Amino acid sequence: MSKRLFRKVLAAAATITLMVPACLPAQDSSEKKLHQLEERLEKEPEAVLESLSRLEADLKGEIKLLQRSRFLRGQALLELDRNAEAEVVLKSLLGELTADAESDPLLISRTALGLGKTLNHQSRPSEGEAALTLALRQLPENAPPEIRARILLEMTRVMIYLGEPINAADQATEALEWAKAHNLNQIALQARYLLGYAYRNQDDITAARPHFQNAREEARRLGDLRYEILSMNELGNLLVMEKKPDAAMKIKQEALDRARKINDDYLVSICLHDIGYALILGKKYSRALEIYRSIIQRETALENPRAINMAKLNITYIYSEMGRWREALELAEQTLDSVRRNQLGELEPKLLEQVIDLLERQGRNAEALKRQKELTELNDRKFRRELERKLTEIRDRYRLMEQESEIRILRQDKEIRSLQLGRQRILILSMIGLAFFLLLMAVLAFFGYRTKRRANCNLEILNRRLDELSRHDALTKLSNRRDMMEKLQILKARADRDGSPLSMLMIDMDLFKSINDTWGHEQGDRVLQAVARTLRERIRGQDLLARWGGEEFLVALAGTARKGALQAAEQLRRAVEITALQVDGATISVTITVGVAQYKPKEDLQTVITRADNQLYEGKRAGRNRVSG
Ligand code: GH3
Ligand code: MG
Ligand code: MG
Repeated sequence: MSKRLFRKVLAAAATITLMVPACLPAQDSSEKKLHQLEERLEKEPEAVLESLSRLEADLKGEIKLLQRSRFLRGQALLELDRNAEAEVVLKSLLGELTADAESDPLLISRTALGLGKTLNHQSRPSEGEAALTLALRQLPENAPPEIRARILLEMTRVMIYLGEPINAADQATEALEWAKAHNLNQIALQARYLLGYAYRNQDDITAARPHFQNAREEARRLGDLRYEILSMNELGNLLVMEKKPDAAMKIKQEALDRARKINDDYLVSICLHDIGYALILGKKYSRALEIYRSIIQRETALENPRAINMAKLNITYIYSEMGRWREALELAEQTLDSVRRNQLGELEPKLLEQVIDLLERQGRNAEALKRQKELTELNDRKFRRELERKLTEIRDRYRLMEQESEIRILRQDKEIRSLQLGRQRILILSMIGLAFFLLLMAVLAFFGYRTKRRANCNLEILNRRLDELSRHDALTKLSNRRDMMEKLQILKARADRDGSPLSMLMIDMDLFKSINDTWGHEQGDRVLQAVARTLRERIRGQDLLARWGGEEFLVALAGTARKGALQAAEQLRRAVEITALQVDGATISVTITVGVAQYKPKEDLQTVITRADNQLYEGKRAGRNRVSG
């Protein structure tokens, strides 16, 4: 695998890259011309270069068009493998573009990609990496997917040249996925081939083989003979690594024959190179030496340090196998210097290993140890670089995710806020509504309460009044029979409880019918009221008085025995007797007859009342206006 391959690949890459703007409409004749030149770039790069020189003379002052023309010049030089010139053109253009904030980022990205390629071609992968990093960074999101795929592919090559196969595999995988996602078959094929190559450089034969097999199939399908041959050659290399020189030679010979058939020097060179390696394994040293010497000769003319140094490395193996250690060591050291000068990181550890091996074989252990340290440091450095790259990648991805989630959160925040605003508005309106409602309810409740309270009050008064009415006699205002009976229960309970005496006086007005007859019913009522008043005034607080019937009254004397009762009855009789009522100038007087009886504990109230009533009857019979008991 050497630089020549990539030149061919680049040719294709440049074509596709340059064809992208061809789809854009030309605005004037100069722009149209630039378009036409872009389309001819791959097939006739020399003619395009000439035309560009003529066009640039007319483009003075039109900076944007001039820049595009210079970009095309750089691509054409790249196409012609005039890398040093391409580098000058593209580097100065890139400097100008990046200094101007108004520059088209896509043009910056493509210029950086071109520069990266020329640097890679010149075996300066570290500088190439810087240019390609810039290309990726400047690549606008809406750029044709092809460009990104090209950058990733070129980055893979950088990693291979730098001897970082893990990074290379990562880049190749990314390129492959991107290419597959965008139906870029040719790029996907190259990415797959490079992925196999990266695994092969990690000595991972199992991982590498399916990719080369796939690439071979794919190339056959796409009619890409070069990649078919390259893949076959690599499948042969895997067999070499598995120490199967015969099987390897068979497939490599087939690849070589095909390369010769299509007359591709570069492919012939590659196949020869690897055939040489297979010959070493088969211990056919002189034949192998011959091949490598011819390769060196050819590649020196082409100034291809990578191919030359690879051939030299293989010669050191041959010398070593032949026991020519001193020569082997001398060549290995010399090649190592050249590899370091030419930034051929891929070859450096292999050469160091070879140097160490040769030093050990000659018993120069102290020197071998020193070189071993160098190798360890080198591997360490690469390992660290690969690790750092991985970390950066993870960090970038994480940052991107973080940014995305931040944006999402911000968006959600906004939505929530607008929702909240809406909700707030609704809330405020509902609050106002609610406030009104509550106020209304409060007013209603207040009035309702007042009304109710009033109603309750009235009702209470009414009830009380009704109760009073139901318990009292309207005419005399005295307790009626019902009220009297209830109250008597209390006196009875007390008498039953403590045995205190209780007396009953049944009072009936004498010959009242005649009063009514003489003075009229109304006057009779007034007389009745007057007697009631007199009786009420004369009884004690603890005694009870009720209108028992028409002109009958019942008095209960609490805590009063027969004697006291007879005295009280007499006092009442006397009081009524002396009460005179003035009616229409005439005086009406009335008497009462009183029947007295004593309550006997536990007896029925009605029983004692009846006894009093009987005594009353006795009094009437005896002539009225008297007490009987
Ligand atoms: P005596 O009891 O002394 O035997 O004679 P008397 O006239 O009182 O007879 P009686 O008790 O039978 O009649 C009672 C009368 O009292 C009959 C009724 O007209 C009269 N009277 C009853 N209640 C009232 C009342 O509320 N107002 C008036 N004006 N008269 C009443
Ligand atoms: Mg009477
Ligand atoms: Mg009567």
